[in-house]
Amino acid sequence: MAERMQKFVSVGQKWPEKRAAADRADDFHEIYREFIAEKANEQASRCAQCGVPFCQTHCPLQNNIPDWLRMTAEGRLEEAYQLSASTNSMPEICGRICPQDRLCEGGCVIEQSTHGAVTIGAVEKYLTDTAWEKGWVAAIKPRREREESVGIIGAGPAGLAAAERLRLRGYQVTVYDRHDRVGGLLIYGIPGFKLEKDIVERRTQRLIEGGVKFVLNCNVGETISFDDLRTQHDSVLIATGVYKAKPLNAPNDQSVVKALDYLIASNRVGLGDEVAEFTSGALNAAGKRVVVIGGGDTAMDCVRTAVRQGAKSVTCLYRRDRANMPGSQREVKNAEEEGVVFEWLAAPKAVRAGKKPGVAAVRMRLGAPDASGRQSPEEVPGSEFDVVGDLIIAALGFDPEDLPEAWDALDLKTTRWGTISANPLTYATNLPGVYAAGDIVRGASLVVWAIKEGREAADAIHAYIQDRAQAARVAAE
Ligand SMILES: Cc1cc2nc3c(=O)[nH]c(=O)nc-3n(C[C@H](O)[C@H](O)[C@H](O)COP(=O)(O)OP(=O)(O)OC[C@H]3O[C@@H](n4cnc5c(N)ncnc54)[C@H](O)[C@@H]3O)c2cc1C
Ligand code: SF4
Repeated sequence: MAERMQKFVSVGQKWPEKRAAADRADDFHEIYREFIAEKANEQASRCAQCGVPFCQTHCPLQNNIPDWLRMTAEGRLEEAYQLSASTNSMPEICGRICPQDRLCEGGCVIEQSTHGAVTIGAVEKYLTDTAWEKGWVAAIKPRREREESVGIIGAGPAGLAAAERLRLRGYQVTVYDRHDRVGGLLIYGIPGFKLEKDIVERRTQRLIEGGVKFVLNCNVGETISFDDLRTQHDSVLIATGVYKAKPLNAPNDQSVVKALDYLIASNRVGLGDEVAEFTSGALNAAGKRVVVIGGGDTAMDCVRTAVRQGAKSVTCLYRRDRANMPGSQREVKNAEEEGVVFEWLAAPKAVRAGKKPGVAAVRMRLGAPDASGRQSPEEVPGSEFDVVGDLIIAALGFDPEDLPEAWDALDLKTTRWGTISANPLTYATNLPGVYAAGDIVRGASLVVWAIKEGREAADAIHAYIQDRAQAARVAAE
């Protein structure tokens, strides 16, 4: 084994080939090509096999990375896949869209020693894509059926991870979603150039074939009441994500488009839907000068979508500098390659209409650190400037909707940020049998955290239903 590993000294870091910017600028296909088998084996062999694997501790799912890298290097691909799938419900999705530089690869010891991290995400994606191709991804076949049922509100990664785990245990699982497709932000938020939609759809199909029922176009609180769901099921999981866009709050901001409206329209068009606001041009960047305000992953997805729709120019305004932006540095680099212009340390003051439409902006500088240790941006006096733009998109983050109000469930406890208050270990809310996981508990976060929480909430729901059944048996004796 040993001579197959620890090759980081002699083998350099290599990513799967990236399509050239000119080639990828007008389609929504993923930008990285597949690893060929030899490259995946070779890159996996760079792993140092550390006694204390920091990659694993930096992965929210605690994936057993060194072991599946070793198996990959040894050509034991099916075993490597099985091991990676034992802790992750969607390894090929995480391999594509986790910000690995901040997670597993950021913790990799050979990254710290300047050799360049093992390309963990790319190997994980390769393993599971190969598993799908070779038929190693097993169907969901519960050993026995159970009569108890669980209702899951939200078909995003948290809901889907929970659905799979509960169905494997034989529960009758129904997932309710207000959208017409399954996947949450995986299908309607994240663009195809990061995650092609058939990758999400084959996961959905596997759940359907495994007996998970989906009730779509079902807005809980409107189409069906939360109380009814609680009555119909032995337990309910809330996995609704966070969708209330943070407002720009600048004069004349009525014409500003919300990032998610823009991305959903684009994803729908990609999936073959007719979208009136896209056809009318309201949510289409073609031929326009586009200004995106924000510095997170959503802003990066907007600027890169605008490039692909044929925008005349795309500018991103962010009030901090490059080093302090919340989005992935990899995505900024991709956006720059595709022609996006970044105005760092720039904040909007007002939106301009009329003959010279756009954003009136001001330069910022980073001041003293706030309570969280982050430097607060402050205006540089007299530094006002204009950015021309016919389509202004605000990507400033998301807050939770007021679920207790919308669901007429005023006793459902929330935090002061409006997220659902759930026990961090059991995911139980204050209502008996009601659990919550994913962004609606954590606030806007990452797919990998949603998967982890969905899996763990499913285990907690199983324990709850079993304990309740046991208590009923004891009471009946
Ligand atoms: C544009 C964008 C890009 C992103 N890029 C990345 C990335 O590259 N990498 C990454 O790791 N993370 C990324 N994220 C974050 C990631 O998508 C989320 O953290 C993750 O999807 C949260 O999963 P979830 O299951 O909690 O919620 P969601 O994925 O939001 O799913 C919630 C589901 O609940 C449904 N729902 C809500 N309310 C109701 C109701 N009342 N009744 C019925 N159904 C309801 C919604 O329709 C939705 O389908 C991105 C987010 C956005 C917005
Ligand atoms: S799930 Fe994400 S953080 Fe964990 S190993 Fe995979 S890519 Fe890295």
